Amino acid sequence: MTGVTGSGAAGRAAAGGLTASASAGGPTASAAAGGPTASASAGGPTASAGTRDTPSPLVSAPVPAAALDRHRAAVAAVRGDYAKLTEQGGADGPVRLAKRASNLFRFRDSLPGRQRGLDGTGFSRVLHVDPAARIAVAGGMTTYEDLADATLRYGLMPLVVPQLKTITLGGAVTGLGIESTSLRNGLPHESVVEMEILTGDGRVVTAAPDGEHARLFRGFPNSYGTLGYALSLTIELEPVRPYVHLRHLPFGSAQECMRAVGQIAADGAVNGASADFVDGIAFGHDELYLTVGTFSDVAPWRSDYTGQQVYYQSVRRFRDDFLTTRDYLWRWDTDWFWCSRAFGLQNPAIRRMWPRRYRRSDIYRRLVAFDRRHGLTEQMDRARQVSPRETVIQDVEIPAEKGAEFLDFFLREIRMRPVWLCPLRLRSAEPWPLYPLAPGHVYVNFGFWGTVPLSPGQPGGHHNRLVEREVAALGGRKGLYSTAYYGEDEFWRQYNGQEYAELKRAYDPGGRLLGLYDKCVRGR
Ligand SMILES: Cc1cc2nc3c(=O)[nH]c(=O)nc-3n(C[C@H](O)[C@H](O)[C@H](O)COP(=O)(O)OP(=O)(O)OC[C@H]3O[C@@H](n4cnc5c(N)ncnc54)[C@H](O)[C@@H]3O)c2cc1C
Repeated sequence: MTGVTGSGAAGRAAAGGLTASASAGGPTASAAAGGPTASASAGGPTASAGTRDTPSPLVSAPVPAAALDRHRAAVAAVRGDYAKLTEQGGADGPVRLAKRASNLFRFRDSLPGRQRGLDGTGFSRVLHVDPAARIAVAGGMTTYEDLADATLRYGLMPLVVPQLKTITLGGAVTGLGIESTSLRNGLPHESVVEMEILTGDGRVVTAAPDGEHARLFRGFPNSYGTLGYALSLTIELEPVRPYVHLRHLPFGSAQECMRAVGQIAADGAVNGASADFVDGIAFGHDELYLTVGTFSDVAPWRSDYTGQQVYYQSVRRFRDDFLTTRDYLWRWDTDWFWCSRAFGLQNPAIRRMWPRRYRRSDIYRRLVAFDRRHGLTEQMDRARQVSPRETVIQDVEIPAEKGAEFLDFFLREIRMRPVWLCPLRLRSAEPWPLYPLAPGHVYVNFGFWGTVPLSPGQPGGHHNRLVEREVAALGGRKGLYSTAYYGEDEFWRQYNGQEYAELKRAYDPGGRLLGLYDKCVRGR
């Protein structure tokens, strides 16, 4: 499996077979160009507010009868719940999804009063894996941990498996996941064949690359549950081997490292070894690594980073390493990249005492949420008269040729390290309207998660704002899973306000769900 494929998922997608209803037309305007690097995307067949309802559209892949019956019952139940939650114009406030775990980094107050979230538990199972067709059908709230386990059983995996175990399929598609296969396979939404969506106006529709709801299909990524909720998704899978051979390549400057990214993207290989996975770490201006992973049938040894050893530290120490494919997929989860150090987990004594089953990103995330809810760190800092700190937790995509410039800015102005590097290239030949990246272009995702001290007089958000401006100046995009500080006009220029408004009119004309700006910037 060499080379970097550039063909579009849309072309291959085997949609069809849906119980779709008739369309009554609707807005046809094409998407506005969303930013400096992307061209406009015409919306394709139109969505419509007047579309006749489809009672319970089925996914087109054959799903075993018992699983399908259970799924249908869950669809009927969620529609009823949604209607109840939104009747009287949602008097109790906006609808939220009730899930056991979340990987958002915008902490909101708990739901007020008697308000319940929309129960997504009926959609947290893998419905079917078809090894011959290499597709899986899964509920929208299925975690990647469960999904990967279900597919690895057949020697297959989703084309992109985000690193944190409790990220869900629907969350990664609507909130733009990424991983080290993204240079080869693009982003998670680019291997979706079709999605069953509960729309804001209470319908259940099936959106696919072609057909009546194609425009919703294209506009769903980066809509963060503001157009509707994905109840089930059919996705493509690819074959795996038992092991991954990792090669950690060191670089003495960001320029050198970014040049290597370009070369790997062009060749799809390094020194004859297929670049099945590519990501990296910047520890500083003059110490960077790219880790190139290659599927392997053999492993002279197997490392284990769920015990006393910490994966990101191994990148500095070894040039070669081997992991089972499953351990490779979750290599970042055990220590939440490096963020577990905030809990002392990289101190061997504390690590030994911390039960292995609790060395997981969702456990750390829960601890952070508890801290935020009760303001514990803030109170301690005040008592110790320590200067306040600003949380800077973001992932941004920068054109690879500007990557060194971004890193130079970041290490100088924000001074946080390490930084995660993950190259990507869209798989689709068309940009995705709400997160416009240029097809065929190589980007690098920079991920940074931590806090920085605020100097006297600096307002909260100062460093985040610097990042937002730099990303825009370099023709990049910022993911919206965390805090954002954009003014409204600037936000809509970045994220294609025109197309979003049309989708919102078509699928949630009554505004039963929050708007994207309210959710992602106002943090509602
Ligand atoms: C420290 C940190 C590091 C991260 N690193 C990575 C990374 O390396 N790779 C990566 O891929 N991602 C990463 N993420 C981001 C993560 O992928 C996104 O936050 C993603 O949206 C989380 O999905 P979730 O399933 O946990 O959804 P949630 O956190 O529950 O929800 C996220 C949003 O999506 C909406 N949503 C959830 N499910 C659905 C659905 N079925 N249909 C429609 N809308 C839905 C919710 O309403 C919400 O607005 C990181 C996040 C953090 C905090």
